[in-house]
Amino acid sequence: MRVYSIFRSFDGESNGFSGPGESTTFVRLAGCNLVTDTNPGCVGCDTKYAQDADAGREMSVTEVLDRIHTNKITITGGEPLLQWSEGDQNLEMLVDKLVKERKKITIETNGSMALPHKGRKGLRFIVDWKLPSSGQETQNLMDNIYLMDVRDVFKFVVRDRKDFDRATQIIRGMLSGRKKAKVSIGCIWNELDLQTLWTWVQEEKLDVQLNIQLHKMVWGDDSNKVEDDVGKV
Ligand code: SF4
Repeated sequence: MRVYSIFRSFDGESNGFSGPGESTTFVRLAGCNLVTDTNPGCVGCDTKYAQDADAGREMSVTEVLDRIHTNKITITGGEPLLQWSEGDQNLEMLVDKLVKERKKITIETNGSMALPHKGRKGLRFIVDWKLPSSGQETQNLMDNIYLMDVRDVFKFVVRDRKDFDRATQIIRGMLSGRKKAKVSIGCIWNELDLQTLWTWVQEEKLDVQLNIQLHKMVWGDDSNKVEDDVGKV
């Protein structure tokens, strides 16, 4: 599989398990399906370096496993599900090995591809539900609402009030009354402050988890540089 970086750190955001601060190994896969000749991808994408399917290098499942020394693993991208069943060394094989070792696994996805759940114990999905300011709202795959369960997390990343109002609409509409995934809401670093966001949440009486970006609080705008320093494969 095509891997951009592997590095040991902590989860900065909701992870479906203990949440921000949990020790983890990040495995960042290369390539993003939202970036095409006609689509520049998400406005404000903070992992542009992993958008290119040729970024990083090819690694076998064994090579990746050899670099994991934590009980928790966070698989991210780019869009990691692009490589779920692609090739003879793919993400599904890696996940199945990790499940066998009873690891805790989070896959962070942009929500445009169907979740391959199949009831694997220890595997949770964080689905980034795209809001208007991302420019990618039409890419949300509605069926994922029915594929997610109580172990998974819907993540809303809010830039402005318009984004917040759309998130509220979805939480009260499509997500209400279902035996559903957890819902977390956070804001874009340096563009909206958590206090304002949480005031809106309180006013609207939303029953959601505040998603902080702990890695930004620790590393600030250097968090990507830290990844390159320690993790680039
Ligand atoms: S889906 Fe992720 S990697 Fe792709 S453009 Fe959006 S934020 Fe960037």
